[in-house]
Amino acid sequence: MKDLIEEWRKKAKQEYSANRTFLKKIKKSKGKEWDTKAREQHEVAFSCIDCLQCANCCTTLGPRINPTDIRRMAKYLKMKESELVETYLQVDDEGDHIMKSMPCPFLGADNYCSIYEARPKACREYPHTDMDKFASKPNLHALNTLTCPAAFHVVSALRQIG
Ligand code: SF4
Ligand code: SF4
Repeated sequence: MKDLIEEWRKKAKQEYSANRTFLKKIKKSKGKEWDTKAREQHEVAFSCIDCLQCANCCTTLGPRINPTDIRRMAKYLKMKESELVETYLQVDDEGDHIMKSMPCPFLGADNYCSIYEARPKACREYPHTDMDKFASKPNLHALNTLTCPAAFHVVSALRQIG
């Protein structure tokens, strides 16, 4: 697992352009075959990579937080929604709620998420490598290779298979 994270650190920037070109190429194929292949590699990546040894998304990215997330998080934390928003969230340039500060305030020193059961939808879905229509989002996946070793593994493996 450590090897995969180290490999990612070394190669993600180096291979960004080739990964992006590959992802744009498969977008044109519009084939659902990429969903199956990406899901297989997603399973491989997360069988080797332990998010608790990484936490890079929770440290650097931060999720968009929708109204349903706010309701769920507030209930879990036994806070009023307004209090949750005031304490932890801010509004970005696009009008979406995001965390007020990063690393995420819910990330513990042990890399556990203190609101795991109630975490935002965006956290549950990241890094989107098991999503439907994988091939339709080349820019998203290319960018995620720079943040997430699992996403990097998936895209690199697809390039080799592809
Ligand atoms: S960046 Fe990827 S591998 Fe790292 S914690 Fe997030 S989802 Fe897991
Ligand atoms: S809410 Fe939890 S999973 Fe989401 S960024 Fe914060 S620590 Fe990570």
